[in-house]
Amino acid sequence: MKKTIVFFDVEADLVSQKTDNKECIERVLGELRKRKIMAAFNVCGKVVEEFPRQVELMHSNGHEISSHMYNHENVLGLNEKELNSAMQKTEKLISEITGSKPIGFRSPWLYYNAKVYSVLRQRGYKWASNKRIRRAEIAEHPSLQFSDSNFLHLVNKLLLKTFLRTQWVFFPKKPFNANGLREIPLLSSMDGELLGLVDPNQNSSLAQLEFTVNSLQKQYFQAEQHFNLTFHDWLIGSKNRIKVLQSTLDFLQKQRAEFILPRELL
Ligand SMILES: [Zn+2]
Repeated sequence: MKKTIVFFDVEADLVSQKTDNKECIERVLGELRKRKIMAAFNVCGKVVEEFPRQVELMHSNGHEISSHMYNHENVLGLNEKELNSAMQKTEKLISEITGSKPIGFRSPWLYYNAKVYSVLRQRGYKWASNKRIRRAEIAEHPSLQFSDSNFLHLVNKLLLKTFLRTQWVFFPKKPFNANGLREIPLLSSMDGELLGLVDPNQNSSLAQLEFTVNSLQKQYFQAEQHFNLTFHDWLIGSKNRIKVLQSTLDFLQKQRAEFILPRELL
């Protein structure tokens, strides 16, 4: 019974490719509803403006809604005033739907510094989820043309895997208190790392889908008492990639994962 959080970063097509986000969000919500799983949606303020109905659905279905900044800004390039202004704008938009200010924050691209955390603390945020390392499974990615028949490639792959595995040994495997907030470290590879760069309007190859599902399962077994997943609606909700979400959620239920929300960790 590992305590498991399913995160979705919802940035619409603000940062990446054009796709039908409304439909992607609704497909994702449908899969969660079917399995009675509650998830955490890190939502950009601009998404709330563009798709209020879909964000309302997230809320009315019982999911937790947290902030992912207003326009997926790079927080490292903002001063205190700009950070406050983008956060406030997003808080207002979210609270118009949920009735209360978000208490959780996921930085765009997971970027952060001391200033960001100080502003989060001042604004009353309770949790953040920005710490991550790359995981060893990445070394087996189908697109990483390592050829096992080439000795140098093989050595490179082994070195990369050993390095990433060693890093994982020292990585925090459960939420901890830091900077006055509850920090929820990412305990699996993000969907984009495993699926690779894809065109949301095209299917992914079967090899990529299988690789993603298998890697996430391995990472679940490597986790201790806590586990979490990070998906993006426009990626996992588009074309045949929804199968990755379906198989992963089915797998977690079979493993009797205990689905929790970040706010339950405070
Ligand atoms: Zn993002």
